Amino acid sequence: MKISAYAAPSAGAPLEPTTIERRDLRSHDILIDIKFSGICHTDIHQGREEWGQAIFPMVPGHEIAGVVTDVGSAVTKFKVGDHAGVGCFVDSCRECEHCKAGLEQYCQGHISVTYNGREADKETPTYGGYSTAIVVDENYSLTIPAGLGLDVAAPLMCAGITMYSPLHRWGAGPGVRVGIVGLGGLGHMGVKIAHAMGADVTLISHSPHKEADALRLGADHFLLSSDKEAMKAARSTFDLIINTVSAKLDLDRYMSLLALDATMVMVGIPEEALSLRTFTLIAARRSLAGSNIGGIKETQDMLDFCAEHGLGSDVEIIDAQEINSAWERVINSDVKYRFVIDASTI
Ligand code: NAP
Ligand code: ZN
Ligand code: ZN
Repeated sequence: MKISAYAAPSAGAPLEPTTIERRDLRSHDILIDIKFSGICHTDIHQGREEWGQAIFPMVPGHEIAGVVTDVGSAVTKFKVGDHAGVGCFVDSCRECEHCKAGLEQYCQGHISVTYNGREADKETPTYGGYSTAIVVDENYSLTIPAGLGLDVAAPLMCAGITMYSPLHRWGAGPGVRVGIVGLGGLGHMGVKIAHAMGADVTLISHSPHKEADALRLGADHFLLSSDKEAMKAARSTFDLIINTVSAKLDLDRYMSLLALDATMVMVGIPEEALSLRTFTLIAARRSLAGSNIGGIKETQDMLDFCAEHGLGSDVEIIDAQEINSAWERVINSDVKYRFVIDASTI
């Protein structure tokens, strides 16, 4: 089936309209008519080859929400008319210990990321959500609960789960002082989810004008990272920090905010390597960790949690013609707080 899409023809080139082929439905596949597709900073990193060699033409997009319009003969989890989502991967080896444990994002075999990847045959390129339809195995699709609008649900497929997973694993909850660094697509969902989990939430930002929004979204406190006095006063006061920053930053300044035995989890992936003074770690037995999206089951748990707590993303809906300018605005930290493409304009 030929469908419309937006693709980057080569690294760093502007995205332009194109057509791509979607496969015929296999027995466990569903066909999703895409309604909305979020713009993640990862799309930009990969579209510009900031993380190494990528596959072109590239149809980015791994925050997909839509309606099921056809199902394969053996599908049991979806029926026509259901609201379905697709996140950052569309297949994995299904056999390694991590896949078996529902941690497909850490698959030790071949994982098929939603775009800039290869299908299970390790040859056919995958194309993502900046398109009008996608064919996905039902076992790698999510059910979007009733009550969550498809536009505000789309960014949960990456931004939502990327924050929910470490907050859950490192025990965010009542009495836990959580810092979220960066109020962008990931950060604003981190604030909302950590607040809903009952944590005491501080948004740590390099943008002074974001304070009011941070508090409105659920933060209890706002810490401006350029305010030397405030940063000094906040030293050793956090139990957990989730760092979403997409650019190079001074890790020691942020690690120093952690209390004894506390952890900073990196989810932002800057192009350049970061450095850290060992002294910053040993001074309070601090830990530095990382976390990558979430597995299918945990992503479904996150969607159910968000539906239960009435949490969606704060979105700016755009036409496909605005994708290139939206990318520029994301780079300038100028988005409130996720761009979502209206797929009917593709
Ligand atoms: P985003 O919307 O651009 O948000 C990033 C935020 O970082 C900005 O809003 C800004 O917040 C802050 N920031 C940007 N430049 C900065 C600088 N020079 N110094 C300090 N702070 C800065 O991006 P996103 O879509 O949330 O993605 C964030 C990062 O996470 C990207 O690197 C992306 O690739 C990565 N990511 C990782 C995973 C994973 O599984 N680990 C999943 C998705 C995305 P303030 O203005 O508030 O400071
Ligand atoms: Zn993403
Ligand atoms: Zn695997």
